[in-house]
Amino acid sequence: MNNRQLFQQHVAQTSPAPLGLEIVSASGSYMYDVDGNKYLDLIGGISVCNIGHQHPAVINAIKTQADAYLHVMVYGEVVQSPQVKYAELLAKHLPENLSCVYFTNSGAEATEGAIKLCRRATGRTDIVACNNGYHGNTLGALSVMGDEYWRNAFRPLMPGVWHHNYNSQEFINAINEHTACVLIETIQGEAGVIAPDPAWLQQLRQRCNETGAMLVFDEIQCGFGRTGKLWGFEYYGVIPDVVLLGKALGGGMPMGAFISSHAIMQTLTNNPVLGHITTFGGHPLCCAAGMAAMHVLLDEGIMNEVNEKEQLFHSLLVHPAIKAVRSKGLLMAVELDSTEHVTATLQKCISKGLFSDWFLFAANCVRIAPPLTISKEEIRNACEVLQACL
Ligand code: PLP
Repeated sequence: MNNRQLFQQHVAQTSPAPLGLEIVSASGSYMYDVDGNKYLDLIGGISVCNIGHQHPAVINAIKTQADAYLHVMVYGEVVQSPQVKYAELLAKHLPENLSCVYFTNSGAEATEGAIKLCRRATGRTDIVACNNGYHGNTLGALSVMGDEYWRNAFRPLMPGVWHHNYNSQEFINAINEHTACVLIETIQGEAGVIAPDPAWLQQLRQRCNETGAMLVFDEIQCGFGRTGKLWGFEYYGVIPDVVLLGKALGGGMPMGAFISSHAIMQTLTNNPVLGHITTFGGHPLCCAAGMAAMHVLLDEGIMNEVNEKEQLFHSLLVHPAIKAVRSKGLLMAVELDSTEHVTATLQKCISKGLFSDWFLFAANCVRIAPPLTISKEEIRNACEVLQACL
């Protein structure tokens, strides 16, 4: 059997039609398959590869750490320099109240940890979350996900979760003295890129203050410069009580984090002790890679060009088949008239060396979330191919 057949046979499949390309290398904005084809990566591993594939600083950091030590002990018992240095760097670039980092293995686990933290810190159980919100696929994260098609088969889910529309007054009204936390993506991703109304976010903060509910922003997809600022919430002047990070956090290695104040985080140290447990969370290799990637992002001025590149996409994506282009930085959704049209377009794009995808709750949209390092020339090529495939 060749690798593609083995992939079908022995690697658990959840997609009825996986792409099945066999990637053998990647560099910058490109991926290369076993047949010698080159693909311009328009989605960056779904908002992960923000500084491009195989950045030498990240690869060197991984190699250096691999020479020193890999796993030594489960989370939180021994001092591991990559972990503490990365936590310090994150705290330095976050608001003062977000200074205490719990590193997890994935975005979904960050969601789980944050839910537990907010329950513990408030002594309450209810959660207000968004229709079309996405926070991961474990059972707790699935319970706060805002789409019945995707969650229904896995019921019973966690009780006490109330879903309302993003940007709606009903959402604000649902927050009360039983609410442990309000959980939203700062900018909705899987809904097809929906930005918040700034006044709504401010109202949300105010209502949380009034009721004692904690405000949690999921920056897993929109963080790390994706929108042109380091954190999406910087656009709105609203600071959450807990922030969730993931995806680009690990610089291409798997990791997530939930971050809050030291005082709030302390609630996980008693009754029970070890309020969240993980063997691999904060793995030294992931922290070394993530920290190197964050330094590149901060030091190489990568975020300065994001908005200009966003505008270039807008100016080039003009076609009768395009109904709308929604964006916040280089998190973009190109809306077509139907899901079928998106599926056909994506297939054609692949055959012409352009790699893209759709959105979980907006399958009538083509996803654009390339490495932020994508060049203007590459953007022109991508738009030319995409339009030719419509
Ligand atoms: N939150 C958001 C906004 C996401 O986009 C994702 C993943 O797509 C997650 C959480 C879950 O992250 P992970 O797939 O690492 O569990």
